[in-house]
Amino acid sequence: MTRRKAEPLEEYRGKRNFEVTAEPKGARPRAKSADLLYVIQKHRASQLHYDFRLEWRGVLLSWAIPKGPSLDPSVKRLAAHVEDHPLEYGGFEGVIAEGEYGGGTVMLWDRGTWTPDDPDVDMSLEKGDLKFSLAGEKLRGSWVLVRTKLGYGGSAKPQWLLIKHRDRFASTEDVLLQQPRSVLSKRLLAEIARDEGGDVPKAAKGDPARSGQAPTPKKTSAR
Ligand code: MN
Repeated sequence: MTRRKAEPLEEYRGKRNFEVTAEPKGARPRAKSADLLYVIQKHRASQLHYDFRLEWRGVLLSWAIPKGPSLDPSVKRLAAHVEDHPLEYGGFEGVIAEGEYGGGTVMLWDRGTWTPDDPDVDMSLEKGDLKFSLAGEKLRGSWVLVRTKLGYGGSAKPQWLLIKHRDRFASTEDVLLQQPRSVLSKRLLAEIARDEGGDVPKAAKGDPARSGQAPTPKKTSAR
């Protein structure tokens, strides 16, 4: 019988009792290989939108959501299916030069992992009904992307709707206003533009009004 190599550190761990030894258990990979990346980039291009991206088959499936996600299950948000992006794009935050495609400021607004309800993601995409859960810093719990029959405004690009399912992460709180900062750098769009030579007044139009001050420290975060 061939010995199954389930985990690289299986043998190392099998020889030790970590209740007793102070030896390291071995850093768990930040994400298991089965974990799939999820990101949302807030993008102040010619129009403000949120780029919703799900890792699948080595690329990021991508939808542009003009109004951004809503935690309220009664709210459906239009999501235009756009071209796949490289996986590395999921780490990008900064300024795209004006005049270039998508010129403007990009913020890494949320990041984490996603899990499809049905492992046959290709079939779900074909059916136009992709149910999944998100484990991000801002968005969590159960969601669905459902394809609409008609292109919005006669558009040839397939239109989908992003909808929150009812679960304990559903809320009427406006997460876009409550949590407008980058999960990577805690910056607002205007701050990213300022730091990286972008168009600050244009970027600032994508930030909520009166959010230009320093972030308010959370009372519970004092340690
Ligand atoms: Mn975009």
